[in-house]
Amino acid sequence: MVIFASTKKEIISNLADILESPIEYLKGVGPLRGDTLRKELGIFTFRDLLEHYPLRYIDKTQVSTISQIDFQTDYIQIKGRFIFSDIVGEKRARRLVARFRDNTGIIELVWFQGISWVQKIINLDDEFLVYGKVSFFNGQAQISHPEMEAVKDRQQTGKSYLEPIYPTTEKLKAKNMNARQIGKLTYTLLSLLQQKDIPENIPENILQELRLMPRFTAFGAIHFPKDMDEQKAALRRLKFEEFFLAQVRLNITRIGRSRHSQGIKFDKVGSIFKEFYEHHLPFSLTNAQKRVLKEIRQDTARGHQMNRLLQGDVGSGKTIVALLSMLIAVDNGYQCCMMAPTEILAAQHYKSLQELMKDMPGVNIALLTGSVKTRERRDILEKTAAGEIQILTGTHALIEDKVVFKNLGLAIVDEQHRFGVAQRARLWKKNSVPPHILVMTATPIPRTLAMTAYGDLDYSVMDELPPGRQPITTVHRYETQRMLVMDFLREEIHKGRQVYIIYPLIEESEKLDYENLMNGYELVKTYFPEDKYSISMVHGRQTPELKETNMQRFVNGDTQIMVSTTVIEVGVNVPNASVMVIESTEKFGLSQLHQLRGRVGRGSEKSYCILMTGKQLGKDARERIKIMCATNDGFMIAEKDLELRGPGDIEGTRQSGELNFKLVSLVADRNILEAAKEYAETLISEDEKLEKPENAPLKNYLMRRGKTNWSKIS
Ligand code: ADP
Ligand code: MG
Repeated sequence: MVIFASTKKEIISNLADILESPIEYLKGVGPLRGDTLRKELGIFTFRDLLEHYPLRYIDKTQVSTISQIDFQTDYIQIKGRFIFSDIVGEKRARRLVARFRDNTGIIELVWFQGISWVQKIINLDDEFLVYGKVSFFNGQAQISHPEMEAVKDRQQTGKSYLEPIYPTTEKLKAKNMNARQIGKLTYTLLSLLQQKDIPENIPENILQELRLMPRFTAFGAIHFPKDMDEQKAALRRLKFEEFFLAQVRLNITRIGRSRHSQGIKFDKVGSIFKEFYEHHLPFSLTNAQKRVLKEIRQDTARGHQMNRLLQGDVGSGKTIVALLSMLIAVDNGYQCCMMAPTEILAAQHYKSLQELMKDMPGVNIALLTGSVKTRERRDILEKTAAGEIQILTGTHALIEDKVVFKNLGLAIVDEQHRFGVAQRARLWKKNSVPPHILVMTATPIPRTLAMTAYGDLDYSVMDELPPGRQPITTVHRYETQRMLVMDFLREEIHKGRQVYIIYPLIEESEKLDYENLMNGYELVKTYFPEDKYSISMVHGRQTPELKETNMQRFVNGDTQIMVSTTVIEVGVNVPNASVMVIESTEKFGLSQLHQLRGRVGRGSEKSYCILMTGKQLGKDARERIKIMCATNDGFMIAEKDLELRGPGDIEGTRQSGELNFKLVSLVADRNILEAAKEYAETLISEDEKLEKPENAPLKNYLMRRGKTNWSKIS
């Protein structure tokens, strides 16, 4: 015991940072509990415990009576005695039921787990305080799994009257480590810590301007607040800190790279650009297009590499922005490439670019995909290497090592979320000085999410559609209305339009989805017999060649109906298609529905999106359908998607490690996020190396806590 104590002291005093101490060295923990804390809650060190925040607080001063309980009652604390407890039910229904009485009435308390442990605590002699959430079962009020404590055992853990309740697990409870016990450990820890152990990391001026609580105070107050106002202030401070530090790190990377990377300098806007812009632009640009073009122009004129993400809703006109950017590169004597995720899309880009540039024969445009024949491929590769082709469009075939450019100045990646980071990095190596990179995506990402997931890229948004677009009318129809829906499709087809009918994704293992699609296909054929109508079908089990052929027939207008899974989701442009029917809509996420819907409404005709479902619908599915019917705005939909699903599932950000915040919520804390981002950006742009004396605390903190790549800025 003595040996243990001295070893413990030695270890702690040898650590520069007491918060790095292993958790078992905290008084009251020891090896066994330490093990459980590590396994159950991931608490390895003192710091982990300090950052294990309360779920809620019990206001010890508030004791209610049982007679006060009504259907509005949420959490409640009552004081009284047990009059009875017994185990009832068997197997899964086995539970401990107790009756608890105060001067005004009786309430039932129930436990489904940890029964033997609870039984040991319950005794009929002592007065108890019981705290928990009231629920109603057959009209009877009850509290399941309440917190409880004998009044005689209650000791003040601090000055505070609010008692923190921590997240815990059944296993921990079984080891006598319930929410309150964890509170006691936290209290022990806080009484060990001094101001120097929790140094300030936010510059004084920001603290002042935003009236943020000092860091040391905040940690005390989040665990043991004197009232809920103090708790709120502490929480606000710690949330700000969490996001501010993340933003500072991202900005150091982003600003550092943008200032110090070597990059190609596009000195001028030359004659090709001017000629095209003044005489061959088929429409005038939207303000959003002009703004983004200007951002790109400025970014590529500085002599540093551009790494920019361009987000624009489906149909916002990214292609023309891509072309104009490429013409700037061409004017400066450089080559460009534009990469798309599928052959169909690459071919479409090629076609649009050729069409746009048809009166400007001086610029050579070529298409390179996996299906280009050997002879032609050799020719393209030679001309690319010689610099004779200025704009090369294609699929990922473009990043193969065989593709050598004479002087690649700008690489554009369309529909970015289908390309991995590693693949993008290969583009960088296509030139001795890395080319500028423009990543375009039509998957709207909520701003708060983009700030974190892509915070190391510069970021442009096109939040405006070209004028004259007719909004797509979206409606919800039930299976029972199928006949009417099919009649409507027939009308549209007879007007010369084309229609999509989309089924949920087919994956290798999803036998059921496959059957649904096949049944659906048969059903469509009964409404649209093959002697009068022609139908294309595309799904993931087909060979790429077959997919391509079927798709191409629809694109060319040879077929009127496209029955498909979501493989057609990205970027396909068939302006003559005016109706999209989505089957089993409840199986799709919001962003995906929006992407799918973006396939129609691309021409001058009025377009429709019909969301089909059965009668039985969950609450979330209903909500998604309601949103889809209410708006066409991709950014609004993305925000809703984030609210409904949380950040983990949003397309394109799944692999991002930057989204794991302990306190801050990307949905609810928008104001804090915006403020933290702005302060971090200003701070780093004014003092990139954190050399100003007022930024020393921040710098020290970042150096101590690692994660920041300082080699980049020193
Ligand atoms: P996306 O951003 O989805 O890639 P596209 O670049 O394919 O959008 O553009 C969609 C359609 O809008 C195209 O037919 C394009 O010619 C047209 N378009 C783009 N910009 C404008 C504009 N400023 N005015 C009118 N039509 C435009
Ligand atoms: Mg596009």
